[in-house]
Amino acid sequence: MSAALLERPLPSGKGDAAPFWQAVREGRIVLPRCPACDNFVFPPRPHCPICHGRHLDWVEVSGRAHVYTATVVHRATHPWFMDKTPYVYALVELAEGVRLPTQIVGIPPEEVEIGLEVEPVFERVDDTHTLLLFRPAGPAGG
Ligand SMILES: [Zn+2]
Repeated sequence: MSAALLERPLPSGKGDAAPFWQAVREGRIVLPRCPACDNFVFPPRPHCPICHGRHLDWVEVSGRAHVYTATVVHRATHPWFMDKTPYVYALVELAEGVRLPTQIVGIPPEEVEIGLEVEPVFERVDDTHTLLLFRPAGPAGG
């Protein structure tokens, strides 16, 4: 197996989503929102798909979210994940309605349920990569 296949697949951090990944590196979540029609635009792109507005504002959000759907991965689809199974691949829905693909950590996979309240975990990989994962939310206000 080639060495490249054993490297962790990581987002490039470039392109339309660059401000998103920059914020994640800083431990924050920002999303593009169209000021003309007030819709969040995700995944990030150069213009609003609803009203075709070309100016988008990047807005910081709280990260409060719940599990929209989830699956337990037992068979890795990339060699790097082979010894990481089982893990939970999920879509979480932020309070703002945006759904993010992510991984749920800090809980046994079989205990992850749809609707579970979660909070962000910023996992620093190296100087240029930080991943946005989620874990069960702590007590309210905590
Ligand atoms: Zn718009």
